[in-house]
Amino acid sequence: MRYYFILLLLPLFACNGSAPTETPPAEETKIDRPEYALVIHGGAGTILKENMTDERAAAIRNAMETAMQKGEEVLSSGGSAAEAVEQTIWLLEDSPYFNAGKGAVFTSNGTNEMDASFMTGHDLNAGAVGGITNVKHPISAARAVLEKSEHVMLSGKGAEQFAEEQELEIVDPRYFYTEERYQSLQRVRAKEEAAMEAEKVRQSSTLLHARELDEKYGTVGCVALDKNGNIAAGTSTGGMTNKRYNRIGDSPIIGAGTYANNATCGISCTGHGEFFIRYAVAHDVHARMAYGSLSLKEAADQVIFDELKPAGGTGGLIALDKNGNITMPFNTPGMYRGFLKSTGEKGIFFYED
Ligand code: ASP
Repeated sequence: MRYYFILLLLPLFACNGSAPTETPPAEETKIDRPEYALVIHGGAGTILKENMTDERAAAIRNAMETAMQKGEEVLSSGGSAAEAVEQTIWLLEDSPYFNAGKGAVFTSNGTNEMDASFMTGHDLNAGAVGGITNVKHPISAARAVLEKSEHVMLSGKGAEQFAEEQELEIVDPRYFYTEERYQSLQRVRAKEEAAMEAEKVRQSSTLLHARELDEKYGTVGCVALDKNGNIAAGTSTGGMTNKRYNRIGDSPIIGAGTYANNATCGISCTGHGEFFIRYAVAHDVHARMAYGSLSLKEAADQVIFDELKPAGGTGGLIALDKNGNITMPFNTPGMYRGFLKSTGEKGIFFYED
């Protein structure tokens, strides 16, 4: 009996001897995941310094800060990532500084048509709305499609009727009129007319002009990781200034503008939507992690800099992985972006700083 007892103890002594052990102590292998994390964007493009006064910068920063605080309140009190994403985006949609909700840009017809999407990473469920004109918070319509319908995407009148049935706040489309966005449309139209007269550029490139002129800045997005390890992502936009009426961009397209999967990451994109659709940007980041074992940063950088940029696709994305790592790459001169973690780390950035 005693003999066996000594034999059982021998391996333990061997491990504690002077020879280094193969397995590092548990603390070293443990992944330091924050309890929760949240990242937002307010659009990517060219931030023209002449349009950016100190006051305007402070107001934008303040709106981002307030929205992130709201998300943090939800997450720190044990709320879900989905709830944090919706509540954060609500505040960004209420701000005239962003091209979503109140600050939505104008179509070539002088209307405001909004797109939004929502995805939850624990069940790969998703909801989206395209081309809606009277729902105050398009992100809530997208979440309602996810939670309360058997579909993934509703558009136009059908989406508006569904939102009404769900008792979401419906407003007169004139609510979305802002003088600033209307003047943007006039400038882009004038440019288009001049270009058409000169027959120098193709009509479609006026969308690019809008980006270059900083006329459409401000799609919003949010990705959150909650205390249960669940990821959710959402994106909301007015699209691109002077877009054709009924044009739908990447923002409401799952896998292009938005994606979330607890196994890898959550993503929200902003940029020239046609490229983001063609390159299936959000899903591509997930796929490079899932099948190529890339880190979040490697996957996102490859898509934004190696795939989109050479093709002429301008924009960026925010992404957060299951361990709370965050990355926010963009190939434009600027992207409004911010993040926070339960560890206290946080920041808000505009340019390439
Ligand atoms: N991606 C949006 C769209 O193409 C616009 C943007 O993010 O700036 O509709």
